[in-house]
Amino acid sequence: MLKKVYQRLQQLLPTGPCAICQKPVTHGPIPLCNRCRPKLPIQPHVPLELKQRDRWDEIFVPFQYREPLAPLIHQLKFNHKLHLSRLFGLLIQQQLQQRLQQQPFELPDQILPIPLHPKRLRQRGFNQALEMIRIPAKTLGIPINRHGCRRVRFTPDQHGLDAQARRENLNHAFTVTQPLKGAHIALFDDVVTTGSTMEAVTKALKQAGVRKIQLWALAYTPPHQ
Ligand SMILES: [Zn+2]
Repeated sequence: MLKKVYQRLQQLLPTGPCAICQKPVTHGPIPLCNRCRPKLPIQPHVPLELKQRDRWDEIFVPFQYREPLAPLIHQLKFNHKLHLSRLFGLLIQQQLQQRLQQQPFELPDQILPIPLHPKRLRQRGFNQALEMIRIPAKTLGIPINRHGCRRVRFTPDQHGLDAQARRENLNHAFTVTQPLKGAHIALFDDVVTTGSTMEAVTKALKQAGVRKIQLWALAYTPPHQ
């Protein structure tokens, strides 16, 4: 309990040291120093792998999953560094605003963080996708839908599986638990690889009558890596 309160407080604190090199950050809300910030791996274009699927009305994936971002995402997910979700939230927010200025697109009515299976949620203690998207959702005034979709099948780690195996692994893994007919939803996940998780959720949402679906993720990693 106390640990949780402490982690929440860390999320709310002003800029701390640089999340990469630990040197003090003197300005701006984003906890990255001027030397580390330009090293962030920007994803220069919409990944073809995802674009070719033709499933999503919009795709927003601002970063590549590699150094120095990848170890930070790993820290958040596997070493319980929940305070890093604030950094990711601010980065998503900044990139999203840039994208909206350069290539405006219709914003969704709600953001649905990809749910974890309850067993995984208990292991980790939080859903990283939900934690990362809190700041952008609040800034844009878009509600987060936490319970519209549930993960009903516990699926082994997708790592190392090819696209076909991933899809089979995720068959009927998600179920829609709210009336979402006509909704315009952005799905959000921390990392997207082949897009098969997004695809499985998209399938369930489309069957429930969702009108438009956007794919949002913090980082993209090509499946062969
Ligand atoms: Zn730094």
